[in-house]
Amino acid sequence: MNTASVDLEFDQRHLWHPYTSLTNPLPTYPVTSASGVYLYLETGEQLIDGMASWWSTIHGYNHPHLNAALHQQVDTLAHVMFGGLTHAPAVELGKALVALTPEPLDAVFLADSGSIAVEVAIKMAIQFQVSRGLPKKTKLATIRQGYHGDTFAAMSVCDPINGMHELFRGILAEHYFLPSPEIRPDQDWCDRELDAARQLLSTQHQTIAAFILEPCVQGAGGMRFYHPNYLRGIRELCDRYDILLIADEIATGFGRTGKLFACDHANIAPDILCVGKALTGGYMTLAATLTTRHVANTIGQGPGGGHLMHGPTFMANPLACAVAHASLQLVAGGAWQQQVSRIEQQLRAELLPLNGRVGVRNARVFGAIGVVEMEDTIDVAKAQLGFVQRGVWIRPFGKLLYIMPPYCIEPNELSQLTAAMAAFVDQCELD
Ligand SMILES: *Cc1c(COP(=O)(O)O)cnc(C)c1O
Repeated sequence: MNTASVDLEFDQRHLWHPYTSLTNPLPTYPVTSASGVYLYLETGEQLIDGMASWWSTIHGYNHPHLNAALHQQVDTLAHVMFGGLTHAPAVELGKALVALTPEPLDAVFLADSGSIAVEVAIKMAIQFQVSRGLPKKTKLATIRQGYHGDTFAAMSVCDPINGMHELFRGILAEHYFLPSPEIRPDQDWCDRELDAARQLLSTQHQTIAAFILEPCVQGAGGMRFYHPNYLRGIRELCDRYDILLIADEIATGFGRTGKLFACDHANIAPDILCVGKALTGGYMTLAATLTTRHVANTIGQGPGGGHLMHGPTFMANPLACAVAHASLQLVAGGAWQQQVSRIEQQLRAELLPLNGRVGVRNARVFGAIGVVEMEDTIDVAKAQLGFVQRGVWIRPFGKLLYIMPPYCIEPNELSQLTAAMAAFVDQCELD
């Protein structure tokens, strides 16, 4: 047990946290341990984690099955290069991924993070088109309000405004952006929603390698939920115009939306699938890009000896693979189905009544994701302090207050999260 106190002064002065300034750092709270849905702070508070560490800790912290897998692996083989060597954790994880994902996906690239999985997906798409003798198909099509990661190729398909494309003008590749779909999953579908996509793909398909999107749920780009028929329509258009479909399920994969994959809401399979975040149950950084035999074989017959041109140093790290495999065993066990559906019902009951309240633009729920979008930008530091004082960990961004807790959260714990969100709305009404 590490009891040394965290040097917060050093932290503030020397360590960048995600999307922060070192000259004007925001407060950080030192965590000493975590178990189940609880984070334990050095200052003595225990917080119910509403964020699942950014979608990842779906089974909760300090899970005995995941711990055991890691302990066993670290005493056997912590790491070895994946060039020319292989190992059981990678092979077993590969088998589990192929078994769990939609049928046509059966080639796996193990990447070190979600952003890298997206980079690899884009490389696959471009190499596929080059290998078919269609080198003009170099552009990507996507929808606004998307988020696909922080590396340059991934950033180039993030929402141009949220993703600050202006800042990197001239460096970022320029791709095609369609309006973000407006029709929500619980609203009536209208086929005109696809008109902009029809227009773009029918006129530009010769330049488009792939369409990339987050199926049904746009995460960090705005926490928006859209109708599965849009996704189905995009799948059909991609088929018609000979464009690959890349589904970025890094946030939505492994049950979060109430289906194993968000693509399942539309009964479609992508040509390329990215998974990450919850892949290791939130234990280690690991992601994967899967594709079809057809895409893999086509790349295999292409230039450069048909090699897929990617190979990170820590590719298929055995510790990460072992814990991911253990996490997928839990996922395959299927307990998530009831847990997520119970969370969804409770979130609906406890968050949707916030619709119509002063200061609330919209409250919405999809699967085990609850969102309260405010009219005004939230003061993160102030809101966070209020939440910590109430014993919950909720980290707003922009105008969004949102939660996606570990699946194992108990009803009374979930109520504490939603009560804290409601209290935040109460407070805004008073201010
Ligand atoms: C988080 C996320 C990524 C990036 O993953 P990292 O592991 O942070 O690089 C990409 N796409 C989506 C949809 C995400 O939610």
